[in-house]
Formats: sequence, C-alpha cells, structure tokens
Amino acid sequence: MASLFARRPILTSATAASALAAAYYVSQPRRPLMMDTAQNPKTKTLAFPKNMLFSKQLKVTNVEQVNHDTKRITFALPGGNGEVSGVTPGAAILTQHTPPGAWFPVFRPYTPIHDLDQPGVLELLVKKYPNGRASGHMHSLNPGDELTVRGPLPGQWAVPKDERNILCIAGGAGITPIYSLAKGILANPADKTKVELLWGVNGTRDIVLKKELEELEQQHPDRLRVVYAVSGAEALPDAPSLGDEEKYRKGYVDKTLLSEAIVRCQKNGAWGDDKGQRVFLCGPPKMEDAVAGKDGILAELGVLKKEVHRF
Ligand SMILES: Cc1cc2nc3c(=O)[nH]c(=O)nc-3n(C[C@H](O)[C@H](O)[C@H](O)COP(=O)(O)OP(=O)(O)OC[C@H]3O[C@@H](n4cnc5c(N)ncnc54)[C@H](O)[C@@H]3O)c2cc1C
Repeated sequence: MASLFARRPILTSATAASALAAAYYVSQPRRPLMMDTAQNPKTKTLAFPKNMLFSKQLKVTNVEQVNHDTKRITFALPGGNGEVSGVTPGAAILTQHTPPGAWFPVFRPYTPIHDLDQPGVLELLVKKYPNGRASGHMHSLNPGDELTVRGPLPGQWAVPKDERNILCIAGGAGITPIYSLAKGILANPADKTKVELLWGVNGTRDIVLKKELEELEQQHPDRLRVVYAVSGAEALPDAPSLGDEEKYRKGYVDKTLLSEAIVRCQKNGAWGDDKGQRVFLCGPPKMEDAVAGKDGILAELGVLKKEVHRF
C-alpha cells in the first residue's frame, strides 16, 4: 500500500511536468505561418491547444537510413487508416522522451514529411546531431518501438486570395518545414503562390529530399524553382563542377544568391509583403542570424523583419 501512495504523487508530478513543459514550449512567441501583415489582417493563433495536453503514442513501422546522418522514420497513427495526422503544411509536432536518469522530458519539434492527407501514417526525417538528446533517441528507434508525441503545433498556411511569390530559405535539416510548406502550397489548385527555394547544404550528400523536390519541380515548373547552395570541400575553387551551375551553386546562401532570388520574386521591380512577397526561413541558428539577423543579409537587401517568418 505504502508503495502505491508513494508512486502516485511521482506519476502525477511527472505528468504535470510534461504538460507544463509542452505548454511552455507552445506558449513561446511563435508566429503563425499565415500572411498576417499588410494585405491580410492578423489571423488568430489557436488559444492554448488542448492537443498539447494529451500525448499520443505512435508505433514505428519502418526506419530507413537515407544518408550518413539522417533517417526517415515511419509511424502508424493510433486510429490506423481511419485517421490522418491533422498536421498542416509547414507545421510540426512535438516529440517527447525522458533520457535515462533525467528528471524532465526532452521536447523537440519535428516537421512531418508524409503526404498530409494520407491516412494512418506519420513520417519524420531526422538528422542526428552529435550528442543530440532527441535526435539520438529518434535514431535509436526500431520498428515496433513507440514514440510519445504532442501536437500538431499551431500555425497554418492561409491560401492567399491573390498570386504571391514567396522566398523559402532552408539550411541543412531545416528543409523539412520548407518542403512541407512548399508541397502543401503546390498541391492546392486554389493556391497560386510561386515558391523560390534556396537550400544551403554542407555537401551534396546532405541533399536528402532530392527526388521529391525534383518531382515537385517537374510537376510545377512555373511555380517552384529550387537552387542548392553547396558549401564545404565541393565548393573549393579547384573542385569539379557540380553539374547544372544555375541549380547547384557553390558556397553559402549569400548576398548574391539572395538578391538574385529576391529579384525573381519581385513584381514589377518591387518587393514587400504588401506586394505579395514574403520570406520563410529555417536553418541552424548561425545561418538564420547571418541571413535574417538585425544586420543580416536580408535587412541589407531591404527585406523587413516582419516579412520574414522563422519557424
Ligand atoms: C519548427 C521546427 C521543425 C523542425 N523539424 C525538424 C525535422 O523535421 N527534422 C530534424 O532533423 N530536425 C528538425 N528540427 C530540429 C529539431 O527540433 C532539433 O532541434 C534537433 O533534432 C536537435 O535536437 P537534439 O535534442 O538532438 O539536440 P540537442 O541535444 O539540443 O543539441 C545537441 C548538439 O547539437 C547542436 N544542434 C542542435 N540543433 C542544431 C541545429 N538545428 N543546427 C546545428 N546544430 C544543432 C547543439 O548545439 C548541440 O551541440 C526542427 C526544428 C524546428 C524549430
């Protein structure tokens, strides 16, 4: 009996800690994906989402190593083919696990990459970071294992009434929210948005969704253009050409690349959210700061902070 009474408060406080931590994460200032400036009035984010309070267990059904550090992990939804994930384009879910010996759970956002209307499935592409707490745990999962998730996180792309050009900038594993957003936009025939995508990688081996992006470009040649900025050894002056030099640029996502992309997004030589353009950015903190920090390249190029959505 004593042990029962001793356990209850522990269970209760662990559950409360999880809910509080999830609540804390969600309550951090996060901007919705919607175009909420000039042309469109500010849209409401969800109030405290009840789907954050209750976790779900997803069973791993398949694990595929897609390159040197990234795995594609497929999960079955608890309701099977009778339900879809409910994740919207560009939105993430929150994973949760408690490392051995730790008091508090670790929460991390991951952006599903499966077809969002596909029933019964949720698919994540996870890059492993050295000593990464969540990514290390995710990479240890095998078919049959379960993962605790919460969400999806609030934030939804609102289909614009008019034609828009958006500039999407990804760095490394930051491609997943950008890919999900672009795929969702392109899949909707009512959406006329054009997507200019710049993706910075440390090497061609890091280009993980290449086939999927090529297919999207083939299906929507007038609405999607992808340019890869490849840094590292392959970008050295004496390194061989990477092939199509318009598509595979050497070096970082720099001022030259960004100004070219902005020119392509402009309408009648003008840029601005009130004219239909906006930037979506997801990458490592150093890259995000270089691109969209206070004195970053986008600011130099005249892009306003409110025109940049950071995931
Ligand atoms: C909205 C959103 C969606 C995301 N979706 C995905 C996704 O689909 N797939 C995916 O793999 N990741 C995604 N991430 C990143 C993910 O949430 C974790 O931050 C990442 O997996 C590292 O967590 P960790 O616990 O393994 O590393 P930690 O234990 O937090 O850190 C371990 C080490 O890795 C370094 N590190 C951590 N994160 C980064 C980073 N982003 N860039 C460079 N170094 C880093 C740390 O500095 C530290 O040295 C997303 C992030 C956001 C904000």
